[in-house]
Amino acid sequence: MSISINLQEIKSSIPESITLVAVSKTKPVSDLMEAYDAGQRIFGENKIQEMAEKYEETPKDIQWHMIGHVQRNKVKYMAKFVSLIHGVDSLKLLKEINKQAKKHNRVIDCLLQIKIAKEDSKFGMSFNDASALLQSNEFSELKHVSIVGLMGMATFTDNLSQVETEFKLLKSTFKILKILNPKLLTISMGMSGDYKLAIDCGSTMIRVGSSIFGSRNYQ
Ligand SMILES: *Cc1c(COP(=O)(O)O)cnc(C)c1O
Repeated sequence: MSISINLQEIKSSIPESITLVAVSKTKPVSDLMEAYDAGQRIFGENKIQEMAEKYEETPKDIQWHMIGHVQRNKVKYMAKFVSLIHGVDSLKLLKEINKQAKKHNRVIDCLLQIKIAKEDSKFGMSFNDASALLQSNEFSELKHVSIVGLMGMATFTDNLSQVETEFKLLKSTFKILKILNPKLLTISMGMSGDYKLAIDCGSTMIRVGSSIFGSRNYQ
């Protein structure tokens, strides 16, 4: 099995307008570099410390996406280099990202994570919370963050019609919130098992790990 072949297969099966985030979590830098050498420049990690270590060891034209749940006290470790934070789920977190971005004289792009799955284990905001955040004065005062879209994770299930319903919910949420905030452009949804369905439902950014790098073993 070859990482570069997997990557080429996925890229040739999706429209060019779709952004592919190669999810390299748990994988060694050597695997990541195989994807890099095949042309991939956007990588996703779900742990800030692991991402920061990989950032130090890899070429500086890589765009690093934080796709996991973000702890506020760790934002400082990625503020100088992260290019997109997918999992923003509170104003409190956004304020911390703003504070750390300011120290580096940056504006950090973020996605609001919307809870679309029925599972309790999934993080994310309700439509009402996201809508209130986007219209709040407190948010309008944050000059070092920019909300550029939404992210969602479907329920982990074989029931594709349920997954489809959840993806469509994210798309319709996006359409309404975009009226409040025209800066919203990105819908991050779809992983190895469901990215084709996600694209059919309106995804603009997919996060694919195991279909590129092989299955992960957590030890
Ligand atoms: C791990 C992960 C992915 C990639 O999952 P695969 O099934 O390996 O493609 C996508 N999104 C998030 C948030 C993840 O944590």
